[in-house]
Amino acid sequence: MTSSFYPPVRTLMGPGPSDVSPRVLSALARPTIGHLDPLFVDLMDQIKGLLQYAFQTANELTLPVSAPGSAGMEACFVNLVSPGDTVIVCQNGVFGGRMKENVERCGATAIMVEDAWGEPVSIDKVAAAFDQHPEASLLAFVHAETSTGVRSDAAALCALAADRGALSIVDCVTSLGGIEVLVDAWGADAVYSGTQKCLSCIPGISPVTFSPRAVERIRNRKHKVQSWFLDMQLIMGYWGGSTKRAYHHTAPVNDLYALHESLLMLQEEGLESAHRRHRHNHEALVAGLEAMGLAMVVAPEYRLPQLNLVRIPEGVDDALVRNALLREYDLEIGAGLGALAGKTWRIGLMGFASNERNVLYCLGALEAILAREGAPINAGRAIPAARAVFNR
Ligand SMILES: *Cc1c(COP(=O)(O)O)cnc(C)c1O
Repeated sequence: MTSSFYPPVRTLMGPGPSDVSPRVLSALARPTIGHLDPLFVDLMDQIKGLLQYAFQTANELTLPVSAPGSAGMEACFVNLVSPGDTVIVCQNGVFGGRMKENVERCGATAIMVEDAWGEPVSIDKVAAAFDQHPEASLLAFVHAETSTGVRSDAAALCALAADRGALSIVDCVTSLGGIEVLVDAWGADAVYSGTQKCLSCIPGISPVTFSPRAVERIRNRKHKVQSWFLDMQLIMGYWGGSTKRAYHHTAPVNDLYALHESLLMLQEEGLESAHRRHRHNHEALVAGLEAMGLAMVVAPEYRLPQLNLVRIPEGVDDALVRNALLREYDLEIGAGLGALAGKTWRIGLMGFASNERNVLYCLGALEAILAREGAPINAGRAIPAARAVFNR
């Protein structure tokens, strides 16, 4: 017999979705109202203001796309890329490959700048690509690579693009709320994010922001945007500032209650405090993992506090451990991807999930399973090492 679905209460410490705050879940359950109801229009204005704070931008065109992070990515590409354009795309993990796919589906040429998975984007290689392709009109890169746990230098990359007369598209899906995202200070032109990583919200919404330069390029397009749904000229009619709101699509009303609540939580905590919390929990997790005898893969200066790439000890079965964590501890961590598959785990400490309890819970569970499997670890040291960081 089919019946109502009651999911277990998991602890989500993978690459996303991450634990959703109970405050956000309860906002989701409030009564649905019309998406053109004056009260909902007020809420939209508040969401825009809260997103401008989260992105640290004054950009007028700042809004949540009604679809997951991948749609935010696509929105940036389809609006800024025209057939025949040249776009420099940086790839140092999974998501750069998706950017290439987007560029090519827009009828443009992607010039790939590749770096090893686990390394940041090389500024020198990007500069060399601009030297070889002065016609490039866009630079696209991932700020926080969730597939590897690496942060790239967004300020330097956006400045380089601007210097070469190109606009920048920046993937901040995993960075927003977890580490500094400074859209205006960077001079970034199109930035997209997601709600299910460090914003402590449900999956399925993608905050985006476009600079005045990007808006001008969109307004001057000669080719219609290939996607009707993601065409910003049309969406501006619904989300646009002073103009009367026109129906474009039915906004996911309750999802936006949830987003509003999560952004309000971020504002109440303050960006700096939220970043500090992510850093602190990351330091405790790393201290615990290293005390246990596990090794981190990414160099300390490029590590993301919200996504920790850990080397799996020799002889340990990747899937067996992850399955045991899920079955016995209701704890989800992520598998490695690409060349890192089977060799690494990805432990997320994102948004609401970045807390002391989760750090200790994960270390305890991982240690118990690894010890049972006979892995060469130092039992009993991880939790005191993490506690020492918390007590600092
Ligand atoms: C998760 C993620 C995306 C895609 O977001 P979805 O909500 O899964 O569509 C894009 N880029 C990065 C860096 C991500 O981590």
